[in-house]
Amino acid sequence: MKKVGVLSLQGDFAAHGAALERAGAEPVYVRDREQLEGIDGLILPGGESTTMLKLLRYEGLYEAIVEFGRAKPVFGTCAGAILMAKEVTHPAQESLGLMDIAIERNAYGRQIDSRVATLEPAPEFQLRTAPGTMEAVFIRAPIVRHVNGGATVLAEYQGDPVLIEQGRHLMATFHPELTADPRVHALFLEKL
Ligand code: GLN
Repeated sequence: MKKVGVLSLQGDFAAHGAALERAGAEPVYVRDREQLEGIDGLILPGGESTTMLKLLRYEGLYEAIVEFGRAKPVFGTCAGAILMAKEVTHPAQESLGLMDIAIERNAYGRQIDSRVATLEPAPEFQLRTAPGTMEAVFIRAPIVRHVNGGATVLAEYQGDPVLIEQGRHLMATFHPELTADPRVHALFLEKL
């Protein structure tokens, strides 16, 4: 069984653990550097990216995850996607820079900042997983403003990419761990 780390410093790591179990993988709740050694891939969950950054620094995990991402797949959702991006705005903050993407935080505004939408994933996503539309939960979500280099947009919402694969890495601006649809986690497991 594949072992997948879930960064568990802050945010909705428990929901990712449950989603991994549903998809047939063993979650490892990563809180220190040593735990990166035995895992095949890593998920950075949703939560609050500024807080997560501080805790990453505090635990000495920041450089360790950059290093991990040079060899193994990393999947970031929402705040985790913000940590994955090379450029972060609104406000600007440092990030792990694992994907050559520019992202704007809290980009849907304050009034209607959370919603559940129905997406039609790209044909490639449906071919690689299973056909059908997908429920997507957005919570104070970021918007991807630029995708550089070779990347595949696997789903869009209102014309913006919300699920992107670039090399070995994956990011979603929504929360696939909060719905029963296992396809996004299953796709990540295929990459390991
Ligand atoms: N708004 C959060 C941030 O900027 C992300 C929200 C989430 O992960 N649901 O980090």
